[in-house]
Order: sequence, then structure tokens, then C-alpha cells
Amino acid sequence: MPPKMAICLLVFLLVGLPTFAADPDPVQDYCVPNPKVGNGRTTRSSVLPCKNSSEVTTDDFVFSGMKNFTANFSETGLAALSVNPTLFPGLNTLGMSFMKAELRVGGINPPHFHPRATEIAYLVRGSVYSGFVDSANRVFARVIEAGEVMVYPRGLVHFQMNVGDKPATIFGSFNSQNAGVQKLPATIFGSGINSELLEKAFGLSPKQIGHMRRKLDPKTTR
Ligand code: MN
Repeated sequence: MPPKMAICLLVFLLVGLPTFAADPDPVQDYCVPNPKVGNGRTTRSSVLPCKNSSEVTTDDFVFSGMKNFTANFSETGLAALSVNPTLFPGLNTLGMSFMKAELRVGGINPPHFHPRATEIAYLVRGSVYSGFVDSANRVFARVIEAGEVMVYPRGLVHFQMNVGDKPATIFGSFNSQNAGVQKLPATIFGSGINSELLEKAFGLSPKQIGHMRRKLDPKTTR
């Protein structure tokens, strides 16, 4: 390959790759899904028909569901509201979504990752041990205080624990309208992977695997 062509190819790859890694660029200002078509389902957002712009109102761009969000705490002391276009159709095609989480004193958001988004976590109140692990298993973690922000890079495992003596509130935003989430405990022990494999992978006995399985029954953790 001539050197010039090789350089062109390299530049193409370097410029092109980040583009492939994000939500598609919108081709219009906004695309509020038309609830009259396709039941308003937004999981396959790129093919959803938009409302006619003359029918779009300010209210399509305002989400009020966090105001009266009543915390429904998990066993680990976490209550989270994830807001994507399913709840807030105005987000559709904008490449963003967000979440609000409440953590009880001592409560944790177990290790998890978002396959399609980097997360920015703004600690609204409280004191939280917050961190992530990179692909070389290096941990970046410390206690953050109200007003501080931490970023968790896309696809990396991260976690939070309320280490203060009051409830904590976190606002998180994602650079994908459908960030996705995989919580490691449920992904591993609540998903039906063959027990023998899990025993070998973790050095656990069948009894211990059974205990983890019952604890992480997908019906109670999703
Ligand atoms: Mn997260």
C-alpha cells in the first residue's frame, strides 16, 4: 500500500471510530415520537415516526416525573429512576438520557456498567464512596461530597456507596438515549449461567451458588 494511502486510511480510522461509538447524529432538530404510530414504543428509536412539528409543544421537552418520584428502595438501599425516551419521549434522537438515585445510609449501587454510554454523576446531597475500575483492573475511587461530579467512562464497571449519615441523592446523565445497564451480581448469578461454570470461575460450592442465585432472582432484581 502506498504510504499516502496508508496515512489516509489511518486518519479515516481515527476520525471515523469515535463517530461509530455514539448514538447516530440527528437529522432534524428533534423527533418526538408519534404516540399514534407504533404504540409510542421507543426501543427502536431510529425507526420511530416523529410527530409533525406543528403538534410538538413545550411540554414535550419538560419531564416532571422526578418531582414526585417516590423512592422504592431495593435490598441494597438504592432507589433509582432511569429516564430514557420511554418515559420522556422528547429525548428521542438527542443522544442523551439521565437518572436520579437515592441511597439510604450505608446503601449501595452495586457494581454495574452501561454498555452504550459514559456517565456523569453529580452528587446533589450526601457523601458517597464512588468509583470505577478500568480494563487493567485499576480502581479509581474515593469519597465525593455534595456538589462534586464524577465521570464513569463508557462500558467500565462502577459503583457507589452512601458513607455519610444522611440519605444521598445522585443525578446521573448519559451520552446515549439508551445507555443500558448490566448489574454484575444479577448478570452473573441471576441470569441462568450453568452452575458448574460459576463454581469453577469463582471457587464457590454448589450451595453458595444456590444462595447467590436465590438472592439474585431476576424477578426481584430487575
Ligand atoms: Mn451507572
